[in-house]
Amino acid sequence: MTRSDADLAELLDRDRLHVWHPYSPMPASSPPLSVVSASGVRLRLTDGRELIDGMASWWCAVHGYRHPALDAALRDQLDRMAHVMFGGLTHEPAVRLATRLVELAPAPLEHVFFSDSGSVSVEVAIKMSLQYWRAQGHPERRRLLTVRGGYHGDTFGAMAVCDPVGGMHAHFAGTLAEHVFADRPPDGFDARLDPAYAEHLAERVRSHAHELAAVIVEPIVQGAGGMHFYSPDVVRLLRDLCDRHDLLLILDEVATGFGRTGQLFACEHAGVAPDVMCVGKALTGGYLPLAATLCTPRIAHAISRDGGALMHGPTFMANPLACAVALRNIELLADGCWREDVARIERGLRDGLAPARRLRGVRDVRVLGAIGVIQLDGSVDVPRATLAATDLGVWLRPFRDLVYTMPPYVTCDEEVARIAAATVAAAAAGGGG
Ligand code: PLP
Repeated sequence: MTRSDADLAELLDRDRLHVWHPYSPMPASSPPLSVVSASGVRLRLTDGRELIDGMASWWCAVHGYRHPALDAALRDQLDRMAHVMFGGLTHEPAVRLATRLVELAPAPLEHVFFSDSGSVSVEVAIKMSLQYWRAQGHPERRRLLTVRGGYHGDTFGAMAVCDPVGGMHAHFAGTLAEHVFADRPPDGFDARLDPAYAEHLAERVRSHAHELAAVIVEPIVQGAGGMHFYSPDVVRLLRDLCDRHDLLLILDEVATGFGRTGQLFACEHAGVAPDVMCVGKALTGGYLPLAATLCTPRIAHAISRDGGALMHGPTFMANPLACAVALRNIELLADGCWREDVARIERGLRDGLAPARRLRGVRDVRVLGAIGVIQLDGSVDVPRATLAATDLGVWLRPFRDLVYTMPPYVTCDEEVARIAAATVAAAAAGGGG
């Protein structure tokens, strides 16, 4: 055993002893891979291997790792201050970032509340809608309506609007707020609006409107709830139903925001604006934790009337390092060719994933923007699928019945082809085939 082999073994021993990994027992059932550095779209492992990152670090690192402009923005901010509290103080990175977000977001979203994770941005969105109705003299309007198959995060408010079967409701039975669920939208970005589904949604909204504060959904793509794509018509219908019944529409763009589906925000496919919008993940290009909840003046004014205030304030709210890198990240998007890149990746994934259709055990293959999904008939054997992908030099993290990729936008054609081949191989090894 070389010195570095021994170091790696010790690192993994300590990891096993002390470190709790996501959605895992303690210790984890299989050892994680140790990453020593990353640059471009590649992760370099402690054992010397290099993997193309097909996950963009859980869908965040849209410009890849160690991007010179993002590194420089962070260093520059570090020379001024790493952090300062946000109560009673403000700073240029937060103000400039909020201004830029408002410019990019659909009107009339004008006010920005910063937090440090997508889950908390959803908590804030829920608080905004509950406080809005309380301020309007309707404290009884405190339930939310959502569709099955959704995922909005792991904190309690967010978990309560995740899919009631596939989500974590069973683990926390009796402790989650009880919201109103409609069926999952029919599959297919290109699907026409199904009249029976439209009537179902309308009925759910109509019969609960008196107790509802808001409707909350992930527009167009339901991500961690199952990687389902659905029609912009459904988002338009939800906007229409909210208007007719005087409900707020919360669109959770934490996963879809900043170009992933081919539009800057997924709601642009539908041409509608929400009353409240959550963003996170790719906001900092995967550099630092930061999220934001945007809302309209109508909501902000109602909550703030007569000395009212939004009751939230995280310690690391609007962290200057995170805001500075987010601002630079957004400028890179605004000045760059993300739209062409996402369209190019979409074509590459369509071609590259097509052979999976011939595999036994494959239920569906679907691609939208820079998202490629192979859905199996049953659960993926994650260790076997992961090994098949890493053997081809690609990092993937399948879950449930899904082997999928959401690569950085800077992934070149040859790398997209390798990711697609590895995704097909992982699907074959992990269940299909
Ligand atoms: N909302 C959506 C749509 C998500 O996909 C996620 C994370 O996957 C979240 C919220 C939660 O974000 P975070 O993991 O940053 O708390």
